[in-house]
Amino acid sequence: MITFLSGGTGTPKLLRGMRKVTGPHEISVVVNTAEDIWISGNHISPDFDTVMYLFAGILNTDTWWGIRNDSFTTHEEVTRLGVDEFIRIGDNDRAVQIARGEMLRKGMRLTNATKILLDRFGVRENVLPMTDTEVTTHIKTDLGLIHFQEYWVRAKGALEIQAVVRSFTEPPVATEEVMATIGASDAVVIGPSNPITSILPVLECEGVRSGLEEKLVIAISPFIGNTPVSGPAAALMRAFGFEPSSQGTFSCYEDLLDIFVQDIRDPVEVSGSVRFDTLMTDEEKSIALAEEILHLVEVS
Ligand code: GDP
Repeated sequence: MITFLSGGTGTPKLLRGMRKVTGPHEISVVVNTAEDIWISGNHISPDFDTVMYLFAGILNTDTWWGIRNDSFTTHEEVTRLGVDEFIRIGDNDRAVQIARGEMLRKGMRLTNATKILLDRFGVRENVLPMTDTEVTTHIKTDLGLIHFQEYWVRAKGALEIQAVVRSFTEPPVATEEVMATIGASDAVVIGPSNPITSILPVLECEGVRSGLEEKLVIAISPFIGNTPVSGPAAALMRAFGFEPSSQGTFSCYEDLLDIFVQDIRDPVEVSGSVRFDTLMTDEEKSIALAEEILHLVEVS
């Protein structure tokens, strides 16, 4: 069984291929929750829901968020009524957020609430939130400290980043489910997700780094040259003190890694890295990269 550390775009693209080349019980995913946010009274867990919808076969893979062919009737009406809903939420997507919000309000652990949702969607892969307590990536800008979603979705990333801050009331601890899953893994794959907003929050959960010490750990770079394949990773890397490149990505995880994978087109040379075509522009490309990663695990 392989455990993937995931955000909501790059790693899910790899999982899209992986689910076609190996069985559901061979795949576990530990998902970042530091982008979670309460909106209109409901609980949005963007990265988790992307992974859940992917495995349920209903993900909108044009955007890598939300449910394919969802309607937006409620979003349009609450917006007309004056609610400041800055994230476009589909109607069926909102139903998931209402259900999870209700379970959390009743005091259920996030892990248990998400397990119920996974069961309802018939997902057989083991998908886990990284922690049960709230941790949030905030961005320090001229507007003050704002939630990452405010920076990326509302402001479309058009604000200068002064700092990236992780906020919590109690330091995040990896759940016992996460620790048991890592312990039972043949390998851990750090997918090509944003290091600052998706992967480091998982690694910062108490227990994860030590859990990875004895494991075969493979990471895949989300950068080609000094630009990420998509999204705001470059500005965030700079703000966090890392070079926006595969070399910078490598530095984020260096102490944990056995194998580092870069794209065949990447002009940056990370010494000792393995090169594959990592640009997953369609399902076939995702399957091809998944097969390469499986092969690496088998021979290592
Ligand atoms: P988020 O939670 O939506 O920000 O998504 P992730 O953190 O999971 O993924 C965002 C990262 O995925 C970006 O830094 C992209 O560069 C990277 N990415 C997206 N598509 C690809 C791809 O096809 N190949 C590689 N190597 N990286 C990708």
